[in-house]
Amino acid sequence: MTARPSRLKHSAFEALDREDPLRRFRERFDLPEGVIYLDGNSLGAMPRQAAQRVNQAVTYEWGRGLVRSWNQHGWVDLPQRLGEKIGRLIGARPGETLVADSTSVNLFKLLAMALRLRPDRRVILSESANFPTDLYIAEGLVDLLGGRHELKLAAAEAMEDAINEEVAVVMLSHINYRTGRMYDLPRLTARAHAAGALMLWDLAHSAGAVPLDLAAAGADLAVGCGYKYLNGGPGAPAFLYIAQRLHDRVSTPLSGWFGHARPFDFVPHYAPAQGIARALAGTPPILSMAALEVGVDLMLEAPMAQIRAKSLRQSELFAALIEQELEGCGFEVVSPREAAQRGSQACIRHAQAWPIMQALIGHGVIGDFRAPDILRFGFTPLYLGYRELWDAVAVLKEIMITGAWKQPQFQARVKVT
Ligand SMILES: *Cc1c(COP(=O)(O)O)cnc(C)c1O
Repeated sequence: MTARPSRLKHSAFEALDREDPLRRFRERFDLPEGVIYLDGNSLGAMPRQAAQRVNQAVTYEWGRGLVRSWNQHGWVDLPQRLGEKIGRLIGARPGETLVADSTSVNLFKLLAMALRLRPDRRVILSESANFPTDLYIAEGLVDLLGGRHELKLAAAEAMEDAINEEVAVVMLSHINYRTGRMYDLPRLTARAHAAGALMLWDLAHSAGAVPLDLAAAGADLAVGCGYKYLNGGPGAPAFLYIAQRLHDRVSTPLSGWFGHARPFDFVPHYAPAQGIARALAGTPPILSMAALEVGVDLMLEAPMAQIRAKSLRQSELFAALIEQELEGCGFEVVSPREAAQRGSQACIRHAQAWPIMQALIGHGVIGDFRAPDILRFGFTPLYLGYRELWDAVAVLKEIMITGAWKQPQFQARVKVT
Protein backbone atom coordinates (compact mmCIF):
# COMPACT_ATOMS: atom_id res chain seq x y z
CA MET A 1 0.00 0.00 0.00
CA THR A 2 1.24 3.48 -0.75
CA ALA A 3 0.61 6.16 1.79
CA ARG A 4 -1.41 9.13 0.71
CA PRO A 5 0.97 12.09 0.39
CA SER A 6 0.50 14.46 3.27
CA ARG A 7 -1.00 17.83 2.46
CA LEU A 8 1.43 20.66 1.87
CA LYS A 9 0.97 23.46 4.38
CA HIS A 10 1.82 27.14 4.27
CA SER A 11 3.95 26.87 7.42
CA ALA A 12 6.24 24.37 5.69
CA PHE A 13 7.03 26.96 2.99
CA GLU A 14 7.84 29.55 5.62
CA ALA A 15 10.17 27.11 7.33
CA LEU A 16 11.95 26.38 4.05
CA ASP A 17 12.56 30.10 3.57
CA ARG A 18 14.04 30.42 7.05
CA GLU A 19 16.44 27.54 6.43
CA ASP A 20 17.32 28.54 2.85
CA PRO A 21 21.12 28.85 2.49
CA LEU A 22 20.66 31.06 -0.59
CA ARG A 23 18.31 33.53 1.10
CA ARG A 24 20.97 36.24 1.35
CA PHE A 25 21.09 36.56 -2.46
CA ARG A 26 17.57 37.93 -2.74
CA GLU A 27 18.59 41.42 -1.67
CA ARG A 28 21.23 41.53 -4.38
CA PHE A 29 18.40 41.83 -6.92
CA ASP A 30 16.15 44.79 -7.57
CA LEU A 31 12.65 43.32 -7.84
CA PRO A 32 9.45 45.35 -7.89
CA GLU A 33 7.11 45.22 -4.91
CA GLY A 34 3.99 43.15 -5.30
CA VAL A 35 5.38 40.90 -7.99
CA ILE A 36 6.12 37.18 -7.82
CA TYR A 37 8.60 36.61 -10.60
CA LEU A 38 8.44 33.16 -12.15
CA ASP A 39 9.91 34.13 -15.50
CA GLY A 40 13.64 34.38 -14.83
CA ASN A 41 14.09 31.64 -17.42
CA SER A 42 12.92 34.11 -20.05
CA LEU A 43 14.47 37.32 -18.75
CA GLY A 44 16.46 37.15 -15.53
CA ALA A 45 15.86 39.78 -12.84
CA MET A 46 18.11 42.81 -12.52
CA PRO A 47 21.03 42.59 -10.11
CA ARG A 48 21.15 45.81 -8.06
CA GLN A 49 24.72 46.38 -9.10
CA ALA A 50 23.89 46.26 -12.80
CA ALA A 51 22.51 49.80 -12.91
CA GLN A 52 25.59 51.14 -11.14
CA ARG A 53 28.01 49.21 -13.31
CA VAL A 54 26.35 50.20 -16.58
CA ASN A 55 26.22 53.80 -15.41
CA GLN A 56 29.94 53.67 -14.68
CA ALA A 57 30.68 52.14 -18.07
CA VAL A 58 28.64 54.84 -19.80
CA THR A 59 29.62 57.97 -17.92
CA TYR A 60 33.19 57.17 -16.97
CA GLU A 61 34.61 54.61 -19.39
CA TRP A 62 32.78 55.87 -22.47
CA GLY A 63 32.14 59.48 -21.48
CA ARG A 64 35.59 60.29 -20.11
CA GLY A 65 37.79 57.53 -21.51
CA LEU A 66 36.39 57.65 -25.04
CA VAL A 67 38.25 55.44 -27.51
CA ARG A 68 41.14 55.04 -25.05
CA SER A 69 38.97 52.72 -22.98
CA TRP A 70 39.39 49.90 -25.48
CA ASN A 71 42.83 49.49 -23.92
CA GLN A 72 42.63 51.33 -20.63
CA HIS A 73 39.49 49.62 -19.41
CA GLY A 74 40.13 46.31 -21.08
CA TRP A 75 37.15 46.53 -23.41
CA VAL A 76 39.03 44.68 -26.12
CA ASP A 77 39.48 41.58 -23.92
CA LEU A 78 35.97 41.55 -22.50
CA PRO A 79 34.64 38.72 -24.74
CA GLN A 80 37.41 36.43 -23.45
CA ARG A 81 37.40 37.66 -19.86
CA LEU A 82 33.69 37.23 -19.49
CA GLY A 83 33.87 33.97 -21.40
CA GLU A 84 36.33 32.62 -18.80
CA LYS A 85 33.83 33.37 -16.04
CA ILE A 86 30.94 31.69 -17.84
CA GLY A 87 33.30 28.82 -18.60
CA ARG A 88 33.49 28.13 -14.87
CA LEU A 89 29.70 27.82 -14.75
CA ILE A 90 29.59 25.27 -17.56
CA GLY A 91 32.63 23.20 -16.67
CA ALA A 92 34.80 24.39 -19.55
CA ARG A 93 38.59 24.50 -19.43
CA PRO A 94 40.30 27.88 -19.60
CA GLY A 95 40.24 29.35 -23.10
CA GLU A 96 37.22 27.40 -24.31
CA THR A 97 34.43 29.95 -23.78
CA LEU A 98 33.74 33.29 -25.38
CA VAL A 99 30.98 35.89 -25.11
CA ALA A 100 29.75 37.09 -28.49
CA ASP A 101 26.73 37.82 -30.63
CA SER A 102 23.37 36.19 -29.92
CA THR A 103 22.56 32.55 -29.32
CA SER A 104 21.08 32.32 -32.82
CA VAL A 105 24.18 33.75 -34.48
CA ASN A 106 26.48 31.53 -32.42
CA LEU A 107 24.43 28.51 -33.44
CA PHE A 108 24.96 29.47 -37.06
CA LYS A 109 28.71 29.83 -36.62
CA LEU A 110 29.16 26.59 -34.68
CA LEU A 111 26.87 24.53 -36.90
CA ALA A 112 28.82 25.68 -39.94
CA MET A 113 32.09 24.82 -38.17
CA ALA A 114 30.76 21.36 -37.37
CA LEU A 115 29.75 20.68 -40.98
CA ARG A 116 33.18 21.75 -42.18
CA LEU A 117 34.74 19.31 -39.71
CA ARG A 118 32.71 16.43 -41.18
CA PRO A 119 32.89 17.15 -44.93
CA ASP A 120 31.84 13.63 -45.91
CA ARG A 121 28.62 13.69 -43.89
CA ARG A 122 25.37 15.38 -44.81
CA VAL A 123 23.02 15.36 -41.86
CA ILE A 124 22.31 17.78 -39.04
CA LEU A 125 20.24 15.89 -36.49
CA SER A 126 18.02 17.76 -34.05
CA GLU A 127 14.82 17.42 -32.07
CA SER A 128 11.44 18.18 -33.60
CA ALA A 129 10.41 20.00 -30.39
CA ASN A 130 13.63 22.03 -30.23
CA PHE A 131 13.45 25.80 -29.74
CA PRO A 132 12.42 27.16 -33.16
CA THR A 133 15.38 29.48 -33.72
CA ASP A 134 17.72 26.48 -33.52
CA LEU A 135 15.79 24.75 -36.28
CA TYR A 136 15.38 27.90 -38.36
CA ILE A 137 19.11 28.59 -38.22
CA ALA A 138 19.87 25.04 -39.33
CA GLU A 139 17.38 25.38 -42.20
CA GLY A 140 18.98 28.63 -43.28
CA LEU A 141 22.44 27.12 -43.25
CA VAL A 142 21.35 24.05 -45.20
CA ASP A 143 19.80 26.37 -47.76
CA LEU A 144 22.91 28.54 -47.96
CA LEU A 145 25.09 25.49 -48.55
CA GLY A 146 23.12 24.69 -51.67
CA GLY A 147 20.91 21.92 -50.39
CA ARG A 148 23.67 19.29 -50.14
CA HIS A 149 22.89 18.90 -46.46
CA GLU A 150 19.75 17.91 -44.65
CA LEU A 151 18.18 18.75 -41.31
CA LYS A 152 16.69 15.59 -39.82
CA LEU A 153 14.42 15.76 -36.81
CA ALA A 154 13.58 13.12 -34.25
CA ALA A 155 11.50 13.05 -31.09
CA ALA A 156 13.46 13.23 -27.82
CA GLU A 157 12.67 9.61 -26.95
CA ALA A 158 13.95 8.42 -30.33
CA MET A 159 17.07 10.60 -30.36
CA GLU A 160 19.67 8.00 -29.42
CA ASP A 161 18.50 5.63 -32.13
CA ALA A 162 18.46 8.40 -34.71
CA ILE A 163 22.19 9.06 -34.31
CA ASN A 164 23.98 7.13 -37.04
CA GLU A 165 26.98 7.29 -39.38
CA GLU A 166 25.28 9.80 -41.71
CA VAL A 167 25.11 12.44 -39.01
CA ALA A 168 27.71 15.20 -39.07
CA VAL A 169 26.44 17.01 -36.00
CA VAL A 170 23.78 16.44 -33.38
CA MET A 171 22.32 19.78 -32.25
CA LEU A 172 20.17 19.65 -29.13
CA SER A 173 18.88 21.98 -26.46
CA HIS A 174 19.98 20.42 -23.19
CA ILE A 175 16.77 21.54 -21.49
CA ASN A 176 13.62 21.87 -23.55
CA TYR A 177 12.27 25.41 -23.41
CA ARG A 178 8.65 24.32 -23.28
CA THR A 179 8.54 21.16 -21.17
CA GLY A 180 11.65 21.53 -19.04
CA ARG A 181 12.78 18.06 -20.04
CA MET A 182 16.55 17.62 -19.69
CA TYR A 183 18.80 15.35 -21.74
CA ASP A 184 21.55 13.29 -20.19
CA LEU A 185 24.35 15.44 -21.59
CA PRO A 186 27.30 13.06 -21.11
CA ARG A 187 25.29 10.13 -22.44
CA LEU A 188 24.11 11.83 -25.63
CA THR A 189 27.57 13.29 -26.21
CA ALA A 190 29.10 9.83 -25.96
CA ARG A 191 26.42 8.46 -28.27
CA ALA A 192 27.19 11.11 -30.91
CA HIS A 193 30.91 10.44 -30.64
CA ALA A 194 30.41 6.69 -30.98
CA ALA A 195 28.76 7.36 -34.35
CA GLY A 196 31.58 9.69 -35.39
CA ALA A 197 29.37 12.78 -35.12
CA LEU A 198 30.00 16.06 -33.35
CA MET A 199 27.75 17.23 -30.54
CA LEU A 200 26.49 20.81 -30.32
CA TRP A 201 24.60 21.71 -27.15
CA ASP A 202 22.33 24.70 -26.69
CA LEU A 203 22.57 25.57 -23.01
CA ALA A 204 20.10 28.48 -23.07
CA HIS A 205 18.01 27.01 -20.24
CA SER A 206 20.92 25.30 -18.49
CA ALA A 207 23.73 27.78 -17.83
CA GLY A 208 23.27 29.18 -14.33
CA ALA A 209 20.40 26.77 -13.66
CA VAL A 210 21.93 23.31 -13.45
CA PRO A 211 25.44 21.95 -12.83
CA LEU A 212 27.31 21.41 -16.08
CA ASP A 213 30.65 19.78 -16.78
CA LEU A 214 31.34 20.07 -20.48
CA ALA A 215 34.98 19.06 -20.13
CA ALA A 216 34.15 15.85 -18.28
CA ALA A 217 31.49 15.02 -20.86
CA GLY A 218 33.96 15.58 -23.71
CA ALA A 219 31.55 18.07 -25.29
CA ASP A 220 32.59 19.50 -28.65
CA LEU A 221 30.57 22.67 -29.13
CA ALA A 222 28.00 24.64 -27.15
CA VAL A 223 26.12 27.92 -27.14
CA GLY A 224 24.03 29.62 -24.48
CA CYS A 225 22.11 32.65 -23.46
CA GLY A 226 23.14 35.65 -21.33
CA TYR A 227 19.74 37.10 -20.44
CA LYS A 228 18.03 34.06 -18.89
CA TYR A 229 19.53 32.43 -15.78
CA LEU A 230 22.70 34.52 -16.04
CA ASN A 231 20.71 37.71 -15.42
CA GLY A 232 22.60 39.71 -18.04
CA GLY A 233 19.73 41.99 -19.06
CA PRO A 234 17.48 42.21 -22.12
CA GLY A 235 19.30 41.15 -25.27
CA ALA A 236 22.47 40.38 -23.34
CA PRO A 237 25.16 38.85 -25.53
CA ALA A 238 25.37 35.07 -25.70
CA PHE A 239 28.29 32.71 -25.16
CA LEU A 240 29.88 29.94 -27.13
CA TYR A 241 32.12 27.04 -26.19
CA ILE A 242 34.56 25.16 -28.41
CA ALA A 243 36.59 22.27 -27.02
CA GLN A 244 40.28 23.06 -27.09
CA ARG A 245 41.13 20.03 -29.25
CA LEU A 246 39.10 21.61 -32.08
CA HIS A 247 40.50 25.13 -31.93
CA ASP A 248 43.08 24.70 -34.69
CA ARG A 249 40.62 22.94 -36.96
CA VAL A 250 37.50 25.08 -36.84
CA SER A 251 36.82 27.90 -39.25
CA THR A 252 34.02 30.39 -38.81
CA PRO A 253 31.67 31.32 -41.64
CA LEU A 254 31.50 34.87 -40.24
CA SER A 255 35.17 35.67 -40.71
CA GLY A 256 35.16 39.17 -39.30
CA TRP A 257 38.07 41.28 -38.18
CA PHE A 258 37.75 40.55 -34.46
CA GLY A 259 38.45 36.91 -35.20
CA HIS A 260 41.51 37.81 -37.29
CA ALA A 261 44.99 36.89 -36.13
CA ARG A 262 46.06 40.57 -36.29
CA PRO A 263 42.97 42.77 -36.57
CA PHE A 264 44.90 46.01 -36.26
CA ASP A 265 47.32 45.21 -39.05
CA PHE A 266 44.42 45.93 -41.41
CA VAL A 267 45.63 43.49 -44.03
CA PRO A 268 43.27 42.72 -46.91
CA HIS A 269 43.05 38.93 -46.34
CA TYR A 270 41.55 36.96 -43.52
CA ALA A 271 43.74 34.81 -41.29
CA PRO A 272 42.10 33.20 -38.24
CA ALA A 273 43.26 34.05 -34.75
CA GLN A 274 44.71 31.33 -32.57
CA GLY A 275 42.37 29.68 -30.10
CA ILE A 276 38.79 30.54 -29.30
CA ALA A 277 39.17 34.16 -30.52
CA ARG A 278 38.63 32.99 -34.10
CA ALA A 279 34.95 32.55 -33.26
CA LEU A 280 34.56 36.34 -32.87
CA ALA A 281 33.06 38.32 -35.72
CA GLY A 282 32.88 42.04 -34.99
CA THR A 283 33.15 44.67 -32.28
CA PRO A 284 31.76 43.47 -28.93
CA PRO A 285 28.79 45.29 -27.32
CA ILE A 286 30.62 46.67 -24.30
CA LEU A 287 27.69 48.20 -22.43
CA SER A 288 25.69 44.98 -22.64
CA MET A 289 28.71 42.98 -21.57
CA ALA A 290 29.20 45.24 -18.57
CA ALA A 291 25.70 44.38 -17.39
CA LEU A 292 26.18 40.68 -18.12
CA GLU A 293 29.39 40.58 -16.12
CA VAL A 294 27.49 41.67 -13.00
CA GLY A 295 25.00 38.84 -13.42
CA VAL A 296 27.72 36.28 -14.02
CA ASP A 297 29.81 37.46 -11.06
CA LEU A 298 26.78 37.10 -8.83
CA MET A 299 26.11 33.60 -10.10
CA LEU A 300 29.71 32.63 -9.42
CA GLU A 301 29.30 33.58 -5.76
CA ALA A 302 26.56 31.02 -5.21
CA PRO A 303 27.34 27.30 -4.92
CA MET A 304 25.77 25.54 -7.90
CA ALA A 305 24.91 22.47 -5.83
CA GLN A 306 22.74 24.65 -3.59
CA ILE A 307 21.11 26.31 -6.60
CA ARG A 308 20.25 22.94 -8.10
CA ALA A 309 18.95 21.49 -4.84
CA LYS A 310 16.68 24.48 -4.25
CA SER A 311 15.51 24.59 -7.85
CA LEU A 312 14.51 20.94 -7.80
CA ARG A 313 12.71 21.35 -4.52
CA GLN A 314 10.89 24.44 -5.82
CA SER A 315 9.77 22.84 -9.06
CA GLU A 316 8.64 19.71 -7.24
CA LEU A 317 6.71 21.64 -4.59
CA PHE A 318 5.14 23.89 -7.16
CA ALA A 319 3.84 20.96 -9.23
CA ALA A 320 2.57 19.22 -6.10
CA LEU A 321 0.81 22.41 -4.95
CA ILE A 322 -0.90 22.82 -8.32
CA GLU A 323 -2.22 19.29 -8.05
CA GLN A 324 -3.28 19.73 -4.44
CA GLU A 325 -4.92 23.13 -4.71
CA LEU A 326 -6.30 23.03 -8.25
CA GLU A 327 -7.63 19.53 -8.54
CA GLY A 328 -10.41 19.32 -11.12
CA CYS A 329 -9.58 22.72 -12.69
CA GLY A 330 -8.15 21.24 -15.89
CA PHE A 331 -4.42 21.60 -15.17
CA GLU A 332 -1.92 18.94 -16.13
CA VAL A 333 1.73 19.02 -15.04
CA VAL A 334 3.77 18.15 -18.13
CA SER A 335 7.33 18.76 -16.96
CA PRO A 336 9.15 15.58 -15.91
CA ARG A 337 8.63 14.49 -12.32
CA GLU A 338 11.96 12.71 -12.20
CA ALA A 339 14.64 15.12 -10.97
CA ALA A 340 17.38 13.87 -13.29
CA GLN A 341 15.22 14.73 -16.29
CA ARG A 342 13.99 18.12 -15.15
CA GLY A 343 15.46 21.56 -15.69
CA SER A 344 14.56 24.58 -13.57
CA GLN A 345 10.96 25.08 -14.58
CA ALA A 346 7.46 23.72 -14.32
CA CYS A 347 5.17 23.44 -17.31
CA ILE A 348 1.49 23.19 -16.79
CA ARG A 349 -0.93 22.45 -19.59
CA HIS A 350 -4.39 23.97 -19.70
CA ALA A 351 -6.79 24.50 -22.60
CA GLN A 352 -7.17 28.17 -21.55
CA ALA A 353 -3.49 28.74 -20.85
CA TRP A 354 -3.35 32.13 -22.58
CA PRO A 355 -6.07 34.04 -20.68
CA ILE A 356 -5.15 32.31 -17.41
CA MET A 357 -1.55 33.45 -17.71
CA GLN A 358 -2.66 36.97 -18.62
CA ALA A 359 -4.87 37.03 -15.55
CA LEU A 360 -2.01 35.76 -13.39
CA ILE A 361 0.27 38.50 -14.70
CA GLY A 362 -2.54 41.00 -14.07
CA HIS A 363 -2.53 39.84 -10.47
CA GLY A 364 1.23 40.19 -10.05
CA VAL A 365 2.35 36.63 -10.74
CA ILE A 366 4.60 36.69 -13.79
CA GLY A 367 5.15 33.50 -15.72
CA ASP A 368 4.77 33.01 -19.43
CA PHE A 369 2.70 31.30 -22.06
CA ARG A 370 4.15 28.97 -24.65
CA ALA A 371 1.94 28.09 -27.57
CA PRO A 372 -0.34 26.34 -27.85
CA ASP A 373 -1.42 25.51 -24.29
CA ILE A 374 1.44 25.77 -21.78
CA LEU A 375 1.74 27.91 -18.68
CA ARG A 376 5.46 28.03 -17.96
CA PHE A 377 7.00 28.91 -14.61
CA GLY A 378 10.74 29.29 -14.11
CA PHE A 379 12.56 28.81 -10.79
CA THR A 380 15.50 31.04 -10.03
CA PRO A 381 16.81 30.05 -6.60
CA LEU A 382 18.91 33.18 -6.06
CA TYR A 383 15.87 35.43 -5.80
CA LEU A 384 12.80 33.24 -5.49
CA GLY A 385 11.48 32.27 -2.07
CA TYR A 386 9.37 29.25 -1.15
CA ARG A 387 6.51 31.29 0.26
CA GLU A 388 6.17 33.02 -3.09
CA LEU A 389 5.35 29.65 -4.61
CA TRP A 390 2.54 29.18 -2.13
CA ASP A 391 1.27 32.68 -2.81
CA ALA A 392 1.47 32.22 -6.59
CA VAL A 393 -0.66 29.08 -6.47
CA ALA A 394 -3.10 30.84 -4.13
CA VAL A 395 -3.51 33.61 -6.71
CA LEU A 396 -4.00 31.04 -9.46
CA LYS A 397 -6.63 29.30 -7.37
CA GLU A 398 -8.43 32.57 -6.80
CA ILE A 399 -8.41 33.32 -10.52
CA MET A 400 -9.88 29.91 -11.29
CA ILE A 401 -12.53 29.98 -8.56
CA THR A 402 -13.73 33.48 -9.36
CA GLY A 403 -13.43 32.98 -13.12
CA ALA A 404 -11.39 36.21 -13.27
CA TRP A 405 -9.45 34.84 -16.26
CA LYS A 406 -12.61 35.15 -18.38
CA GLN A 407 -12.51 38.95 -18.27
CA PRO A 408 -12.10 40.51 -21.72
CA GLN A 409 -8.82 42.28 -20.96
CA PHE A 410 -7.10 38.90 -20.52
CA GLN A 411 -8.13 37.54 -23.92
CA ALA A 412 -6.23 39.83 -26.30
CA ARG A 413 -2.95 38.54 -27.74
CA VAL A 414 0.25 40.59 -27.60
CA LYS A 415 3.43 40.42 -29.66
CA VAL A 416 5.86 38.96 -27.11
CA THR A 417 4.56 36.09 -25.00
C1 LIG B 1 16.10 31.59 -25.49
C2 LIG B 1 16.66 30.61 -26.46
C3 LIG B 1 17.34 31.04 -27.60
C4 LIG B 1 17.43 32.51 -27.88
O1 LIG B 1 18.14 32.84 -28.99
P1 LIG B 1 18.41 34.40 -29.28
O2 LIG B 1 19.33 34.40 -30.41
O3 LIG B 1 18.96 34.98 -28.02
O4 LIG B 1 17.11 35.04 -29.58
C5 LIG B 1 17.90 30.08 -28.43
N1 LIG B 1 17.76 28.77 -28.16
C6 LIG B 1 17.10 28.32 -27.07
C7 LIG B 1 16.99 26.88 -26.80
C8 LIG B 1 16.51 29.24 -26.21
O5 LIG B 1 15.83 28.82 -25.15
